[in-house]
Amino acid sequence: MFQVLKFGGTSVGSAQRIKDLEKLTVSPQPKVVVLSAMSGTTNALVEICNALYAKNAAKAKTIINDLKAKYEKEISELYSTTNGLNKAKQLLLHHFNHIESFTLDMFTANEEKAVLAQGELLSTAMFHYYLEEKGIDSVLLPALNFMRIDANDEPDMPYIEKYIAAELSKHEGHILFITQGYICRNSFGEIDNLKRGGSDYSASIIGAAINSSEIQIWTDIDGMHNNDPRIVSKTHPINELSFDEAAELAYFGAKILHPTCILPAKRRNIPVRLKNTMQPEAPGTLIANLITNEGVKAVAAKDGITAINIKSDRMLLAHGFLRAVFEIFERYKTSIDMICTSEVAVSLTIDNNRYLSEIEKELKEIALVEIDENQTIICVVGQLPKDISGYAYRVLESLKDIPLRMVSYGGSNNNISVLVKGELKKEALVALNKGLFNYN
Ligand code: ASP
Ligand code: MG
Repeated sequence: MFQVLKFGGTSVGSAQRIKDLEKLTVSPQPKVVVLSAMSGTTNALVEICNALYAKNAAKAKTIINDLKAKYEKEISELYSTTNGLNKAKQLLLHHFNHIESFTLDMFTANEEKAVLAQGELLSTAMFHYYLEEKGIDSVLLPALNFMRIDANDEPDMPYIEKYIAAELSKHEGHILFITQGYICRNSFGEIDNLKRGGSDYSASIIGAAINSSEIQIWTDIDGMHNNDPRIVSKTHPINELSFDEAAELAYFGAKILHPTCILPAKRRNIPVRLKNTMQPEAPGTLIANLITNEGVKAVAAKDGITAINIKSDRMLLAHGFLRAVFEIFERYKTSIDMICTSEVAVSLTIDNNRYLSEIEKELKEIALVEIDENQTIICVVGQLPKDISGYAYRVLESLKDIPLRMVSYGGSNNNISVLVKGELKKEALVALNKGLFNYN
């Protein structure tokens, strides 16, 4: 059975890091290795596209040349034989000629997607050539031959399953496959992508499609932590999380996983393990369909939240009122994160202000509306069964000195969320680190 291993931009970020992948990927265990572009590459490609859209050929050319120079330097360090280096030079020539071939007058979203795909095509071929130079067998699997999204931008699983199996069956007896994260084709067969940071999603989709034994996401952190290490001084990695707990954490701010990324794995019940390239022996975090221990596991924060208070003098609970409210949000395709109700008012939060003024205008036709921007959701995640007392108490007690704009408990057994002013986020995370995890 295959394992799927995904390495992000920093894990392939330099010649040395690419060399380091060898010991993490070469073993008798069959693997599909999914790579991102070298760090900084996709951002540079986005800038190139922006310059082309702005019809600034000189700027595009400068960014292309800088990027090319960086790759030339990396390949000169990566390969030690003339043959290896020559192959890599041909590779750069091919991809950079392609990037340079796009002209200003014809630059549309389709061309942009083709440019954005070059980073993953480069990194995967570079690693493949590196192994080849060392005499290690590997197969480059073109993601564009099997990764596909449908008309709703959802992975087309039956198609992916069929075509990845076809690709793999062309190479029977081989055990190490390398493929591109992030890139795919759309329902028209055009080159497309799974949105920024989408390589995790690729790994999860591939793992599900080939029914792998495990999906490993390798980064520079030793798994998910109980709190944000950038904000509080002491944290620890979490050993095990259920899929539901991980989804709450990812959605509510833990930066380590793309929120939708674990869905395909979850649906097929394939364990996802977060591993650290700098500390490969560390167990990392296992996310699986398991019953984890009762208790609080982690806290996370999500910034940039807008709270909307909707007050009706004509009785909130008059039936149909909430529906009228929700319909307004639905019309503007704006999803609601937290909700709290009372007899006369309802407060809810959104994380996308794109249609805020339209929503506000329509809400004002049926109610009094108050809006607070720059709020932060603080979310406590774990196994918090509702028939066991004390969890909400401990959360609220930890936060006793911080004004809480909203409190949400009981939606699931995995989550207690509160809403605070953005500027109180740090204080709240520190207070919970002390109150729930005993860290000072
Ligand atoms: N290279 C892409 C990006 O930077 C995809 C990824 O890294 O996951 O967004
Ligand atoms: Mg990246």
